[in-house]
Amino acid sequence: MKSETKAVIEIKGMSCASCVLKVEKGLKELGGVKEASVNISTEKAIVEYDPSKLTEKDITGKIDELGYQAVPGKDLHDSASRKTTFSVGGMTCAACVRRVENALKELEGVTEVSVNLASGKATVTHASELVEITAIENALKEAGYDFLGLVDSRREDAAGEARELELRNLKRKVAVGLGLSIFVFMGSMQSWFPFLDSVPRRVVLYIVFALTTPVVFWVGSHFIRGALNAVSHHTSDMNTLVSVGALSAYLYSSVATFFPHFFAPRGTFPHVYFDGAAMIITLVLLGKYLEAKARGKTSEAIKRLVNMQPRMARVIRNGQEIDIPADEVKEGDLIRVRPGEKIPTDGVVVSGKSSVDESMLTGESMPVGKGEGDEIFGATINGSGTFVFRATRVGSETALAQIIRLVEEAQGSKAPIQRVADRVASVFVPVVLSVAVITFVVWNFLVPNPLFSRALLNFVSVLVIACPCAMGLATPTAIMVGTGLGAESGILIKSGESLEKACRITTVVFDKTGTLTMGKPQVTDILPAADKNPDEILRFAASLESVSEHPLAEAIVKEARGKNLELSEVKHFESTPGIGVAGVIGSRKVFLGSTRLLESKDIDPGNMLQKIEKLTGQGKTCVVLVEDSRLSGVIALQDKPRESARDAISALEKMRLKVVLLTGDNKHTGDAIGRALGIKHVFAELMPEDKLVKIDMLRGNGETVAMVGDGINDAPALTKADIGMAIGAGTDVAIEASDITLIQDDLRLVPRAIRLSSETMKTIKQNLFWAFFYNSLGIPIAAGVLYPLWGILLNPVFAAAAMAMSSVSVVSNSLRLRRKWSRRAEKLS
Ligand code: ADP
Ligand code: MG
Repeated sequence: MKSETKAVIEIKGMSCASCVLKVEKGLKELGGVKEASVNISTEKAIVEYDPSKLTEKDITGKIDELGYQAVPGKDLHDSASRKTTFSVGGMTCAACVRRVENALKELEGVTEVSVNLASGKATVTHASELVEITAIENALKEAGYDFLGLVDSRREDAAGEARELELRNLKRKVAVGLGLSIFVFMGSMQSWFPFLDSVPRRVVLYIVFALTTPVVFWVGSHFIRGALNAVSHHTSDMNTLVSVGALSAYLYSSVATFFPHFFAPRGTFPHVYFDGAAMIITLVLLGKYLEAKARGKTSEAIKRLVNMQPRMARVIRNGQEIDIPADEVKEGDLIRVRPGEKIPTDGVVVSGKSSVDESMLTGESMPVGKGEGDEIFGATINGSGTFVFRATRVGSETALAQIIRLVEEAQGSKAPIQRVADRVASVFVPVVLSVAVITFVVWNFLVPNPLFSRALLNFVSVLVIACPCAMGLATPTAIMVGTGLGAESGILIKSGESLEKACRITTVVFDKTGTLTMGKPQVTDILPAADKNPDEILRFAASLESVSEHPLAEAIVKEARGKNLELSEVKHFESTPGIGVAGVIGSRKVFLGSTRLLESKDIDPGNMLQKIEKLTGQGKTCVVLVEDSRLSGVIALQDKPRESARDAISALEKMRLKVVLLTGDNKHTGDAIGRALGIKHVFAELMPEDKLVKIDMLRGNGETVAMVGDGINDAPALTKADIGMAIGAGTDVAIEASDITLIQDDLRLVPRAIRLSSETMKTIKQNLFWAFFYNSLGIPIAAGVLYPLWGILLNPVFAAAAMAMSSVSVVSNSLRLRRKWSRRAEKLS
């Protein structure tokens, strides 16, 4: 049964990392609290506790007692602030994004909004009880957009279907537009087609008018509706530009068709631009279609993750085995897994044995052996054994669901660089409208031999080429591809912001124990003082450590168990992080911990000092046992460096990054490990707070610091650094504290994550360059600046083609990132 509850509690009044430590320590002192981790940036504590021993009131009371203000939260699964993601229809450009964001921000209870143009999704952060779906729906409707339903990771198929439908719709319209445009073109340019000579011009014009009308109003309904919408909100966007452009060409041509004498001498017919109107609509829509198709590919990573979710489960109920859909499994259900089957949800094995392929979650290709009591994860694949397990997490709480949610959130988030692009885009449209009007005025009134039709053409060209669609797509498409690629290789990037920061990293700081090393030390030597024997030392040490959760403690206890030593009772137990443990055994005060204890307690190590230096020089960790202020023995432990550490460090050095090792361990040990792994900057004998100070110092020197840790006891350091990377914790809550979570234990993911982020940022910058380049180069040409010199004017048809191309090229450039990355991955393997 469930013996632990998790609570998320908001804490106000924490100003620095030492507050974090203070709260964590204070909470852990409460009987019944198993884990407490405090995150200063989110101002939240996640507390794991035994509800039979204390209540949430006790916890919030403790926080208040420590001098901070606790805002009582809810159970983790109904946490105080909630995120809801839904699809939004009708967004076409960066200006729409801002409008939707503003509309949602005004809703009561909403604290944060993030809208992604590329995926057509919006995520709002809100207090769970405050925002109702209908309120969101109404807000969207009022702003002129459609609510297309909640995005539920389990029903991605539905969203996929909607996208398919939209694509089919676009395709049909583009096909009709292209077909009609050909005839419209032939009719407009009647003199180019001799077989049309015999048809009277007036008849041709009527036919062309009849063919263009559906192109503008049906094929182009999307743009016109959008433009009207914008007008009713007193704004303008890309739809405005396309519609005004196409409609001016269309209206002028219609008037010229029915009242030719307005523009030409009686008996002759003025030139018409029906072809321009039809082509603008068709080409821009073609661009939209190609873009939508490519955009679908940017979310492939999510699709792949979602498709991994198991469908069926064989549950044992009332002694009978029945197959039910996997999402109907309840917490506590017993489930049988047969050979080769996909495991339906997260749980703990209760009987049976097997090996499980967890590569889909961890990227680790070696199957992992599982037996009674082992944790297993949904979507992983059972090997050749059979077992029964009890479901512990179901539905949206499973590790896979959490990963999916994280990637979705990251894909929907914004890189800071995009805010700049958004701001530019929002002033862009009104500016362009004025440039177009000026162009018209100049060409119609101020040049020698003004010509109304030429002025109109230039006006239309300016409007059409200036569409800022490419600008709105530059960042989100690259972020979707980048974060998706990360997820596929076991790199979970929390947000666009993390991605942007990660590419500026100059220093990578590693924690030693559990990060560079396996975190599974083994006792290698026991040195007793003259009047002691090794077993006595080990017995006392293990007695003290039996309550501690430190990796060293586990190793010592295991060693003592192996030797069947009987442990003694410890009174007044006390544990000091970074130093060691203390207590009273029998009548003796006993300490076990860092060699620093000797100095601080002024204890003479005598001839032991030499031995300690020899062992630490080999990279071993030495802990000293002090009984009643006398050194009674030393235990040396060896922790193996991870196999991937050397490669990772040399890759980082090749990228010209400074690599730093931080450890609470002895200086000799730190240096020895540093030497073995090729790390030049080693800082040892640091208390947990000192690690934070060191990180601050590095940052003060202008470095952008990434901290790599195991995420469990390094949480404060991870939050302190510019980028916190938690390693080997893909199925853990460490995601909370870190900006980048590396699912596997493989340290080579560290350089890979940094490289991925810089590749993604490079793509974003290229995209922004191309988007701005098209627009800023296109506008003066369209305005006719080159005409006086070389007689060059931009036909609106080319303007439309260029602008469609710019969106398409930006999206395909983002997709190129995917190809580039998989080529690199091939090379690495
Ligand atoms: P690291 O920085 O390598 O992760 P810690 O900060 O956890 O190490 O611990 C630093 C040092 O403090 C250890 O090398 C050890 O000497 C001592 N220490 C901390 N906790 C314990 C413990 N429970 N038992 C023995 N020694 C401990
Ligand atoms: Mg550590």
